Amino acid sequence: RLPTVIILGRPNVGKSALFNRLIRRREALVYNTPDDHVTRDIREGIAKLGHLRFRVLDSAGLEAEATSGSILHRTASFTANVLATSHSLLFLTDARAGLHPLDQEVGKWLRRNAPQVKPILVMNKSESLFDTDHSLASAENEMSRLGFGDPIAISAETGLGMHDLFLSLKPVL
Ligand code: GDP
Ligand code: MG
Repeated sequence: RLPTVIILGRPNVGKSALFNRLIRRREALVYNTPDDHVTRDIREGIAKLGHLRFRVLDSAGLEAEATSGSILHRTASFTANVLATSHSLLFLTDARAGLHPLDQEVGKWLRRNAPQVKPILVMNKSESLFDTDHSLASAENEMSRLGFGDPIAISAETGLGMHDLFLSLKPVL
């Protein structure tokens, strides 16, 4: 059985873009999970990263609820279930947008509800900052305030940083 990695983060940080890059052309399984009387789509696929193969979950469908204030309140039992069966969690943020209050919410929720999980902090859309070392460094610095260590800078769009992502997943999978 393949290890499982879940991609988590506030809406619009690029979770689906990263999911798509990891599964490439392989088929994604889409299924609905009824949770707290809400039905949401989860996408599951087989990821390949270097020689690593793992099951990856894109928590698509949390988006609509996030705009109503608390993403994680209503999705808590869903997420807790998934976390219990996941080997690793990628906590995705957006380098261009910088540290966002909803990122803090996600972090707080993880600390409270999944203290046993050690998320890998991943800062997506970093290609937009790469030409200026200064802004990349200051974005990294800002993200590290989440308390999950220094982020791995990637771009789901260009593929930047995929080797670094590989290096941090390798020991835990
Ligand atoms: P999700 O809501 O977290 O699943 O985010 P999506 O994958 O739907 O992406 C949200 C937006 O960010 C889309 O317009 C994407 O094209 C864009 N996006 C995703 N990844 C990147 C990236 O690495 N760089 C840039 N510049 N944009 C990205
Ligand atoms: Mg999505």
